[in-house]
Amino acid sequence: MSIPTNIPTDVDVLIVGGGPAGALLGCLLARRGIHVLVVEKQQNLDRDFRGETLAAPSVVTLRRLGFGPALENHGYLETTAVSMRMEGQEVLNVDYGRFGIGALPIDIPQPGLIGLFNDAAAGEPGYAYAAGTSCTGLVEKDGAITGARLRDRDGNRVTVTARLVVGADGRFSKVRKEAGLAAEITPQQRDFLSFKLPRPAGWGQHAELVVNRDKHLVVLPTWPDFLRVGHNLPKRGLGELRRRGIEAFRAGITEIDPRLGPLVEEHVRTWDDTGFLEIFTAEMADWARDGLILIGDASHTCTPILGQGVNLAIQDVVMISPVIAAALRAGTGPVPATTFDGFVAARRRHKRRVTRFQRMQEAALAQHKPAKVWVRRVRFKTMNRLPLKYVVFGKVINAPHPIDPADLRTGAEAAPTPAAPSAA
Ligand SMILES: Cc1cc2nc3c(=O)[nH]c(=O)nc-3n(C[C@H](O)[C@H](O)[C@H](O)COP(=O)(O)OP(=O)(O)OC[C@H]3O[C@@H](n4cnc5c(N)ncnc54)[C@H](O)[C@@H]3O)c2cc1C
Repeated sequence: MSIPTNIPTDVDVLIVGGGPAGALLGCLLARRGIHVLVVEKQQNLDRDFRGETLAAPSVVTLRRLGFGPALENHGYLETTAVSMRMEGQEVLNVDYGRFGIGALPIDIPQPGLIGLFNDAAAGEPGYAYAAGTSCTGLVEKDGAITGARLRDRDGNRVTVTARLVVGADGRFSKVRKEAGLAAEITPQQRDFLSFKLPRPAGWGQHAELVVNRDKHLVVLPTWPDFLRVGHNLPKRGLGELRRRGIEAFRAGITEIDPRLGPLVEEHVRTWDDTGFLEIFTAEMADWARDGLILIGDASHTCTPILGQGVNLAIQDVVMISPVIAAALRAGTGPVPATTFDGFVAARRRHKRRVTRFQRMQEAALAQHKPAKVWVRRVRFKTMNRLPLKYVVFGKVINAPHPIDPADLRTGAEAAPTPAAPSAA
């Protein structure tokens, strides 16, 4: 097969995966004049049922990086609070406005977000993007990674040489496997099924967790005019759920949250209207080899609780961009693994904090015995009365993103925080 002509075969940095992590990193490195190629196996950005929540610090960060106007142009939905109802009683309400960090969390679908990064990068010399192109293997020389083998949808193959390969290829990372970096996968007790519904007028803009014993729904107002609903399933319970039929599924949703009954009747017609997410966490002893680093879900898969996946990916990128730039300036061959020691240590600390919180939440949500369900309600109600709840939540969702001055866009950081476009 002939080699695709649009792919540069020798770059400074090859990024495998054009999700939020890979796309933003490609953009920031290209802005610094680094020759970068981003390869994404999907032909287009059409990806349903992915993390769409941008935590408030990510919103602040993206504005400082100069993406504010593009975010406004695209549109998004601000999330004003998160509340929890258990067995019909409100037990917790956290007002995001109380954190005072200059932004609220927002909901923006991944195609829109990634599109902003790709559009901004496209104008930079030295930037290349290959859609519909997969990494099929790594190239190694004297123990260091020196590039990767790629294949496009027509079966054309090409080998690209790079001083650094970045694995940003998500939770089932091919790059991770090819590099021989072992991941410790910890399955969580339950999996997740998601679906979207039209958002009724006057619904409000707060995220809700609706819990009934060991069953729960996450109900997220979603841009432009949807509700994104996630429902927990027993581990390996998808087959059984399907055997019982879509009507039984709809009835189960209605039992947990009767407000959703008429909506699921009308809009969840077949299993094609749902998306499955296997919930696990991944921890790794090593994230790097000479010539290679993993970022985003590839290095630290977490669970959907509090929607931290995209937030963690953005934090990885703003922290690693100056590290990569300095390493490329300092040497000539493959970037040494030790370059990333500080980055990995800092990101691992933060990811552990998020995972610990998520596991605690999951353990609480999985309770089904009446006495434990009662104690759980009392615990959350007590926490709700204490200002401590803002400290606990803030530590998980509001960790600041340290941005290198070279990544800032002059004037962007000083611009007033624009008003959010009105939700549809
Ligand atoms: C179905 C689903 C639902 C989710 N729901 C939530 C949620 O509700 N809340 C939450 O916080 N998080 C959720 N997540 C996780 C969230 O989407 C991720 O944490 C976030 O997108 C991480 O970004 P990333 O760039 O690291 O990885 P990803 O977004 O996974 O991007 C990786 C990219 O790499 C590409 N790729 C993979 N293999 C190759 C290859 N060999 N060659 C080239 N390209 C490749 C993929 O096509 C993909 O575009 C969900 C994830 C999935 C899959």
